[in-house]
Amino acid sequence: MTRALVIVDVQNDFCEGGALGVDGGARVAADLSEHLEENGAGYDFVVATQDWHVDPGSHFSDTPDFVDSWPPHCVAGSKGAQLHPDLDTEPIDAYFRKGAFEAAYSGFEGVLAPEDEVATGDLDEDADSDEDVITLDDWLRQNDVDELVITGIATDYCVRATALDAVQAGYTTAVLLPLTAGINEQRVAETVAELEDNGIEVIQD
Ligand SMILES: [Zn+2]
Repeated sequence: MTRALVIVDVQNDFCEGGALGVDGGARVAADLSEHLEENGAGYDFVVATQDWHVDPGSHFSDTPDFVDSWPPHCVAGSKGAQLHPDLDTEPIDAYFRKGAFEAAYSGFEGVLAPEDEVATGDLDEDADSDEDVITLDDWLRQNDVDELVITGIATDYCVRATALDAVQAGYTTAVLLPLTAGINEQRVAETVAELEDNGIEVIQD
């Protein structure tokens, strides 16, 4: 087995004080750093996704319903879109960005960020050419990854969508629940049941 840790959207805007702060977000960032320090050798690869919005249409709203529309967040290149400072980025092998022009909850909608662009994220003039685009799935397959452990924010939105897409794409998939933070307790409970129904291992501690 080749095993990768997937860190979903541990970004400033999804942590306390951010545009769409989730309680426990900063804790997840710090706990992930500790987990990687202790278990770094347990993963062959570590990847991170980032919500990365340029003009995502109705995903942003001044009167959000917090189901399909949200206050503006994770604007490409902004501080809010950067990973939380308590997350040690040294072990991260690659970053995948999603949602430039529409809502994207699953990390599998993400494409590889250019290496020299991670901090600032200037738009690539040639971005509409699909030729150089490497999706998360492409990258994982290129590296012979077949097992994924998914963590991050939010349990009941982007972690959920990423895990469901992972198992659908054929990966052996687990969600490490203590290293996630959820928006709504009831929805998190429903998400855990849904993930298990879909053959995803939900690790509770
Ligand atoms: Zn978003």
